[in-house]
Amino acid sequence: MVDYGIFGPPGAGKGTQALAICGRLGLEHFSTGDAFRAAVRGGTELGNTVRGYLDRGQLVPDEVVLSVVMHDLGGRRSGVLFDGFPRTVVQARGLLGALAREGRALGAVVNLVVRPEIVVARIALRRSCQCGAVYHLETAPPRQSGWCDRCNEPLVQRRDDEPGVVSARLAVYAEQTAPVLDFLRGVVDVVDVDGERSVEEVTSSLFAALAGR
Ligand code: ADP
Ligand code: AMP
Repeated sequence: MVDYGIFGPPGAGKGTQALAICGRLGLEHFSTGDAFRAAVRGGTELGNTVRGYLDRGQLVPDEVVLSVVMHDLGGRRSGVLFDGFPRTVVQARGLLGALAREGRALGAVVNLVVRPEIVVARIALRRSCQCGAVYHLETAPPRQSGWCDRCNEPLVQRRDDEPGVVSARLAVYAEQTAPVLDFLRGVVDVVDVDGERSVEEVTSSLFAALAGR
């Protein structure tokens, strides 16, 4: 079983692209951020553990993240596209070990390259649905204002998309997550993709990058 990763700063377009490519590639989208938000909404023990980290824009501790991913991987029967994971070198090492134990492998990681000022502008107008769909008030608005095209549930602005938390998340990305790329480049194919183009252009590059890997 071959899995893949989509990497990049908050707001780079990982979730948007995952929705565009997973179906056609026969991959299941696995966003650790979506999993944590679902746990918070559900009021589960995991949700109570992670809520404060999400609200402050800090990383959830590695042992919590790895236990969620390992538990999840056991039930997966298709290749997975990891989105927002791994975010530390400890998580990356843990992932590679878990994949080897499960008879899986990481085929490639695509890295969406987007400058900080662009991601800040994107996040400011992002609206999200609990189904995982993402919109942008100017560049990707829903058909009916405030409501999800896919599931007709109300759209929300994520609590951690508030400007103070966004700057914390970008600092965390620069300090703790960007270095993971150097580690990954040593062990797996990492393909840099210019993420500042239109959604459709980025999607085409991702298909090209992942074909045959
Ligand atoms: P991430 O999952 O990396 O945090 P998202 O996929 O949620 O990022 O995208 C962040 C915001 O930017 C959303 O509002 C989305 O609609 C918008 N967006 C995504 N890709 C592009 C793009 N290529 N051009 C313009 N806006 C984009
Ligand atoms: P995201 O949806 O990827 O923007 O993630 C939202 C928030 O969830 C992050 O700011 C972290 O608090 C938490 N989170 C998601 N994935 C991870 C991860 N792999 N490691 C640590 N924290 C994570």
